[in-house]
Amino acid sequence: MMPLSEYERLMQHGSTADKLIAAPVIEPLPKQAEIVRDCIETARSMGIPLPKTISIAWRYGSRSWEFCRGATRFEYATKRTTVFLDGTLDPNELPRVVYHEVGHTSLFHSGAYLGMTIAEQEMSCDRFAIRALQAEAERAGFFSRAS
Ligand SMILES: [Zn+2]
Repeated sequence: MMPLSEYERLMQHGSTADKLIAAPVIEPLPKQAEIVRDCIETARSMGIPLPKTISIAWRYGSRSWEFCRGATRFEYATKRTTVFLDGTLDPNELPRVVYHEVGHTSLFHSGAYLGMTIAEQEMSCDRFAIRALQAEAERAGFFSRAS
């Protein structure tokens, strides 16, 4: 794993959530909405703390470096979480982004983010995304273990 300071530098460079959130609204394709539902179901089955409802908001994003592909916003007063997703994302990339944002949702919901730096939160969400993608792949039988 790269040193924290390097990770932090990359995260600052890539911290463009506000641009995605301000981008035009886009309607998801039925398949995109289905992928997101499946991902949230998988995340819940992994036992991480999540609110009963996670609002999903789709935006017309961009592959430009100036745009995040996903972002999560938490309203402290209502405890309502909204996950913003780039509707132009390749469906193959969508699960990784959804799991990362669901990771943020869990950190907010549980309050765990309070004791973490931004870089620690980002690493935690990346690790959760990897675990969730592995869980998905194992369930689908993509891995067969040689003994
Ligand atoms: Zn993040």
